[in-house]
Amino acid sequence: MAQTTPNHTQTVSGWAAHEPGGKITPFTFKRRENGIDDVTIKILYCGMCHTDLHHIRNDWGITMYPLVPGHEITGVITKVGSNVSEFKVGDRVGVGCLAASCLECEFCKESQENYCDKVQFTYNGIFWDGSITYGGYSQMLVADKRYVVQVPEKLAMDGAAPLLCAGITVFCPMKDNNMLNSPGKKLGVAGLGGLGHLAVKFGKAFGLHVTVISTSPSKEKEARERLGADDFLLSTNPTHMEAGRRTLDFIIDTVSANHSLGPTLELLKVNGTLVLVGAPEKPLQLPSFPLIFGKRVVKGSMIGGIKETQEMMDLCGKHNITCDVEVINPDQINEAINRLAQNDVKYRFVIDVGGTRKSSENQKN
Ligand SMILES: [Zn+2]
Ligand SMILES: [Zn+2]
Repeated sequence: MAQTTPNHTQTVSGWAAHEPGGKITPFTFKRRENGIDDVTIKILYCGMCHTDLHHIRNDWGITMYPLVPGHEITGVITKVGSNVSEFKVGDRVGVGCLAASCLECEFCKESQENYCDKVQFTYNGIFWDGSITYGGYSQMLVADKRYVVQVPEKLAMDGAAPLLCAGITVFCPMKDNNMLNSPGKKLGVAGLGGLGHLAVKFGKAFGLHVTVISTSPSKEKEARERLGADDFLLSTNPTHMEAGRRTLDFIIDTVSANHSLGPTLELLKVNGTLVLVGAPEKPLQLPSFPLIFGKRVVKGSMIGGIKETQEMMDLCGKHNITCDVEVINPDQINEAINRLAQNDVKYRFVIDVGGTRKSSENQKN
């Protein structure tokens, strides 16, 4: 049953999962009226993140059905509240994972809302008014202005959508570790999927020397020729891994399959840092010798704050960085979920929620 909350009077069409293992089907629900601090967004595109898949299947046991997934949202503002001066009708904007936070803690005050203890997400969260949040697999969204960013004019709205989650996930650790202003430093990217290919693009835009580390030999051509990576290490090849020993300043590990961190750590220079952004289901092996003998650091990172997300968007505009996407129609969501589960996508499915592609095809015909 869809919830009923006072003030939730706007009817919205979307797509929802209703039970673990079930199909995503069209779903009509209610959103709140546009409040004084809110903006209403006509959704154009929504990326499909692995987190969506986990929630759809209830892998983490926390899904509240019906679930309207989606936290890689781009669209156009159709209404602004009386308290909103930062946005106007017609603005091209994006909404990522965050829907609400406490606004008062040290993290909220420093625009690190993503680490607020009371953070609520764009879907499967509880908003301030007690309602369950519904995400971007829908035609319209009401969002508090504090969790909305501008999308630069230059960027395509389909390729920009995954920047809101996949992009910020790899951008933040690069910023935190001073990779944005350190041309020539050596970045390793483990895993070449949605997150990894964006890390390569950011790395090249900021003048870093980028090495892709992967288990599949077929990724080498892709990494070097299409994405401009400088080097490629096949992690299953001991000769490769030995040659790469102590060569990298920094590694972003995007791999979500189980793997030992030992061999990856050996690739770092002394004092190097390994940041985990992939989320394997079982605990990873962390051997202590490569840490101790190389004074190396292992840490994690989760998306980013809103200020950082805007900063990333602006830099993407400047360097013309978007995600490589495969755009699908809403009636292909179930097929895309099955392919996503097999990692069969280059590099992100994006749902054409607004029917933009269809209407431009009709214009051509
Ligand atoms: Zn995501
Ligand atoms: Zn807070």
